[in-house]
Amino acid sequence: MVQPARRMQQIPPYLFGEIARLKAKALAEGKDLIDLGIGDPDQPTPAPIVQALCEAAADPRTHRYDETPAGEPELLEAFCEWFARRFGVELDPATQALLLIGSKEGLAHLAWAYIDPGDAALIPDPAYTVYRVNTLMAGGRVIPMPLLAQNGFLPDLASVPSEEAHRAKLLWLNYPNNPTGATATLEFYQQAVEFCREHNLLLVNDAAYSEVSFDGYRAPSVLQVPGALDVALEFHSFSKMYNMTGWRIGVAVGNTQAIAALNKLKSNIDSKQFPAISRAAAFAIRNLDNRPTLELLQVRRDILVNGLRALGWDVPCPQATFYIWAPVPNGQKSIPFAGRLLEEAGVLVIPGIGYGEHGEGYVRMSLTVMGDRRGERCAEAVERIRASGILG
Ligand code: PLP
Repeated sequence: MVQPARRMQQIPPYLFGEIARLKAKALAEGKDLIDLGIGDPDQPTPAPIVQALCEAAADPRTHRYDETPAGEPELLEAFCEWFARRFGVELDPATQALLLIGSKEGLAHLAWAYIDPGDAALIPDPAYTVYRVNTLMAGGRVIPMPLLAQNGFLPDLASVPSEEAHRAKLLWLNYPNNPTGATATLEFYQQAVEFCREHNLLLVNDAAYSEVSFDGYRAPSVLQVPGALDVALEFHSFSKMYNMTGWRIGVAVGNTQAIAALNKLKSNIDSKQFPAISRAAAFAIRNLDNRPTLELLQVRRDILVNGLRALGWDVPCPQATFYIWAPVPNGQKSIPFAGRLLEEAGVLVIPGIGYGEHGEGYVRMSLTVMGDRRGERCAEAVERIRASGILG
């Protein structure tokens, strides 16, 4: 049989094989697992958005290819109006915005649009794996930027060797951050924009979690930095904002040339999104926020964080994203620790090593807990961890 392309070998082996095996075993034995693994909203998409989709889907004009230059203008205009209200940044929907089939698709293709064999990219470690895997598949070289607790899980740009920075083409950032739950300040974004200007880099900020935040915190956009539009592109998603992961819709905004480059690549690969989904997304961003889901996530966060802290596990309390990035107690490794939590407490978490070398020593817990109504499964998870005695 003919072999797939060599670049496919760049895709790393499935790191969670052992956890997946233990999960399958526990489920086969009929055990009741509390799944804090998956980062996918458990709540339904708000009903008015579903209604908007149904109405749009009944219009035959949405049944054909979206032949617009960059995606349904109705959506891009609504998104840019929202962006101006939310961040105070005016964008031209015709040249500074692009429809995506979910932000993952756009992020992956951005790497392909910019990375030639031998090109380098500065990529955080730990990180959402899409940046790294696509850079490697495109033949690029990854220059890792460790995200360390002592730096608030922000990369230390000053420690990137100048010759490496000059060789690179892209600087990837993701705030609010998956998996660490960290946030970035506007001052940090200012430094990053300055750094990219100095080293002629395209700054790519993945803002998929910009609207998932608690305690009144509002995440800034990198495009709020004066002059950022010269060097930066930001990726937004409807997935986490409106519980729409399955719908596959997002928007990239920012630098005109970068938007054009990504659009050129994409128009040779995909034919945009079902226009009815674009219209429903336009309705959502014009009319709704997702308060009830955020309030529920905050209830769960507080139960888990306070409960685990009461057991002596010093976990951080995220201001944004639905992830708790918990240091593994007593210097254990993340995979065996996650295995013990699964086997001995019936609680599933993700080992941090899956997000990169610097993710070792942590596990990620997601607040998107299937079957949880008002935090009772989170309370149960805490109780099970206590009863198991795993924390010693
Ligand atoms: N970016 C980050 C950091 C993510 O965690 C995810 C999904 O988990 C995405 C992007 C992709 O989101 P979507 O493709 O659903 O817009």
